[in-house]
Amino acid sequence: MIFGPRIELKSPEQLVSMRRAGLLTSAVLQAARAAAVPGATTAEVDAAAEAVITEAGAQSNFKGYQGFPAVVCISVNEEIVHGIPGDRVLESGDLVSIDGGAIIDGFHGDSALTMIVGGDGAGSGADIALSRATEKAMWVGIAAFAAGNKVSDIGDAIDDHVSGEAPDLGLIEEFTGHGIGTAMHMPPEVLNYRARSNGPKIRSGMCLAIEPMLTAGSSETTTLADDWTVVTDDGSHASHWEHSVAKHDGGVWVLTAEDGGAAGLAPFGITPVPPAVV
Ligand code: MG
Ligand code: MG
Repeated sequence: MIFGPRIELKSPEQLVSMRRAGLLTSAVLQAARAAAVPGATTAEVDAAAEAVITEAGAQSNFKGYQGFPAVVCISVNEEIVHGIPGDRVLESGDLVSIDGGAIIDGFHGDSALTMIVGGDGAGSGADIALSRATEKAMWVGIAAFAAGNKVSDIGDAIDDHVSGEAPDLGLIEEFTGHGIGTAMHMPPEVLNYRARSNGPKIRSGMCLAIEPMLTAGSSETTTLADDWTVVTDDGSHASHWEHSVAKHDGGVWVLTAEDGGAAGLAPFGITPVPPAVV
């Protein structure tokens, strides 16, 4: 992914649109999660997500993106990201990552979650721990965005957290978070690992998608012959969590979380602040 240098900073009015897109994205993912039951095909899960977008009179930012054929990516077990919905039948205990988004008023939302098909009781302890660790890594990154000075503080915090708390898990480096706004993928690139460059400063009006991916084994990846689905080289399972977040004059707000990130940020002593209503 090549990014140009310009970072789009949102006005208060534009943040209102970003919040609308974020809330719709949250609803899209919740519908997909509810449809991802044992026996359902991944195409049926995609259809449930698409119905929410259609009903809202909004547009998908995934369908047609570089030819992607669906409104969500569904990645199962050893698939990390970009799985294409289709005939695959979900089984109880599958570890499933769902990544989706939507466009409202020309502004984009982007979010991902990982779940166990049939509920946590159906899953392996290792899969549940992997998903929880990945979700935690995402919140560590969001907290660094809230409290940090530079975009690179996010990757530093995620990397340090994973190396310290979950050193046996693989941290994917080939895929990154990104700026988001009038396009789904915009500058800056948001690394999930510690790198030498400092990157740009975190500024009011900045909106980012923060999205770590962890595996239970190797961090080496392969893209399948469908040119989309990314799997772990060693067959270990993978998890992906993502939120779109905004920095504004009052603080930080998680655009794709219904509670604005209140629950996820509470352990860090951070209270999210909604953007001003304009
Ligand atoms: Mg995404
Ligand atoms: Mg993204």
